Amino acid sequence: MQLSVVRRGFNYGQDGPGNRLVIHLQGCNLRCPWCSNPEGIAPRGTLMETGKPIPAHICPYGGILDGRLKRSVCDACVDRPCLSHPDRLGIAVSCARLPVETLLTECEQGRPLFFDGGGVTLTGGEPTLQFEAVEALLGGLRKRGIDTAMETNGLHALLPSLFPLLDLLIVDCKHPNPEKHREVTGRSNAVTLRNLDQAFANHPNLLVRTPLIHGFNDDDAALEGFRAFYRGKDTRRARFEFLRYHAFGAVKWQQCGMPYEMRDADVPEETRERFEQALRADGHTVVRT
Ligand code: SF4
Repeated sequence: MQLSVVRRGFNYGQDGPGNRLVIHLQGCNLRCPWCSNPEGIAPRGTLMETGKPIPAHICPYGGILDGRLKRSVCDACVDRPCLSHPDRLGIAVSCARLPVETLLTECEQGRPLFFDGGGVTLTGGEPTLQFEAVEALLGGLRKRGIDTAMETNGLHALLPSLFPLLDLLIVDCKHPNPEKHREVTGRSNAVTLRNLDQAFANHPNLLVRTPLIHGFNDDDAALEGFRAFYRGKDTRRARFEFLRYHAFGAVKWQQCGMPYEMRDADVPEETRERFEQALRADGHTVVRT
């Protein structure tokens, strides 16, 4: 069983407790225009231009012009022979396929670095797109006694079956209104909201994350929608976090040949504080990690 992995590396505290090996998995079923990891969206991996001119002769289909990819040609290319050409230059694919066992060995070897309660975090892309392999990886980590966390958009109907394998579950709740969510990200999040109901009831360590994006979810209607959705839920074992929009991913959108269309999306600190205070006033625990 294999997993398609964008990249992996250690970080401290952003994606769970302690020092963690964070594994980014390839493929996402949303199209959030503010995504900071756009190379992780396409399930089969994204071709990225790394800056040097790409030699035309590595492509037999006329997909390279003046040292750049012709995306209209590449998008329809099935076998991507350029990637295995010995003269390959200036081009990379965003992901690699690795056996679950290889990743487990790597996690085992990283164990000395899991200090301060650290472990392994799966994020994306969207990890649940590779559900069976992710389940196998989490099961293997659990058997080895390694702390597990996963960040997900919550859209997989079987997400609750992974709860017993996760020490920390991070669910992105981007909007309380499924139709508004669909308009901007391409899909309704009705399943996410249902899975959050399950998580409030059944997961002992839930972090609900909301990126605040101006013009999408930073107005009073959205805030009242979040409050209404969380009202009446047993959130004693849950924490909530609001993140401010940032444009860190803009360069990567260019490298992936995709237009970065976010404009005026910044949310002032006062707005974040207003959302935080409102949830605290409703009795929820709000954190910044
Ligand atoms: S992906 Fe296909 S069309 Fe594009 S450069 Fe590579 S071989 Fe050519």
